[in-house]
Amino acid sequence: MNRTSKDVCLLCGFKPSTKKNSHWVPAAMLKSMVGKRYNEESYQFSSFQKRKLDVYYGRDNLKNTDTTIKQNHYSLDYIFCDDCENKLGVLESAVIPVIQNEIRLERKRPNYKEELGEDGITLKKCLRLNNNIFRLFIYSIVWRFSLIHQLEDNIQLISKDLQEDLRLILNESLSLDLKEIIENDSIHSLVFQVFTADSFDDGTEGTVYSEEIHKDPALFFVNEFIILFYGNEYTITGEYYFPIERMIQSVDVLNSKDDHPKIGFISNASFNELINRIFGDGAKVILTSLTNSVASCTGLSFIESRYHLYKLGMDIHQKTGSNIIQSFEEAAELICSNN
Ligand SMILES: [Zn+2]
Repeated sequence: MNRTSKDVCLLCGFKPSTKKNSHWVPAAMLKSMVGKRYNEESYQFSSFQKRKLDVYYGRDNLKNTDTTIKQNHYSLDYIFCDDCENKLGVLESAVIPVIQNEIRLERKRPNYKEELGEDGITLKKCLRLNNNIFRLFIYSIVWRFSLIHQLEDNIQLISKDLQEDLRLILNESLSLDLKEIIENDSIHSLVFQVFTADSFDDGTEGTVYSEEIHKDPALFFVNEFIILFYGNEYTITGEYYFPIERMIQSVDVLNSKDDHPKIGFISNASFNELINRIFGDGAKVILTSLTNSVASCTGLSFIESRYHLYKLGMDIHQKTGSNIIQSFEEAAELICSNN
């Protein structure tokens, strides 16, 4: 993606996209994950991206052996104009403290109402957060995720129509100030659930992830949060594994415009299981696609290709210490370049 400040802003479609370093995942949502500034460790992971598993270490993180400064995964230059970026920032500062920073604090307890859903999932209603603002914030995350995947990797996480609907809703609503947003009862109500874990193991590692495998609902991992996004109606297609399946079925956690914003809670163990599962699934998809490319550039059978790929990949992994996926990618490139 080669954009310049002369391109038009992707949100308003009107002003030039002058803003550098636009976060497509709000920086405040990465804070808990990245811990201390410059001590970040984050994973950008999508089964279809060119660098399938790209690990970003902040410059002071001990695991960072690379002296070149990498751009943070979650920010890009020249996608928005300064105005749109600022307006997104207003939503972010209204929502993130409530749903993330304060939701587990004892002294903030009166700001939430804890309920046990019929299906046994605990949820918290955010009494001090307006539903319109919450909704627009979630739309903005889903839209930015979808936009970036489309731009960078030509991946369509939600349908093009829905993506454009979100842009229109955001563009229209963000021209209002917060008070007007709260009073506006015509903001289109789309269906989604937001989950987090009751606790996290440590605050230095997290996952920002989505994929095009799942559509109804589409799945968005945003560090501490999992957003399940359905679009216009609550329909479920496709197979989902535990605990996602259980989260999807939790109708009590569905956001309703006539109620307070809701955050569902899953256990720390379920959250970890989910992350591991996603990495495992992604790795399988990647290996199959690399095997196919080796087969097509060498003319070998799928089984033979997999054998060569595996042998060389493991060799690279052991010698260089690069992560397995990167090692297999290198192996595939090497095999193909020798053919
Ligand atoms: Zn703009």
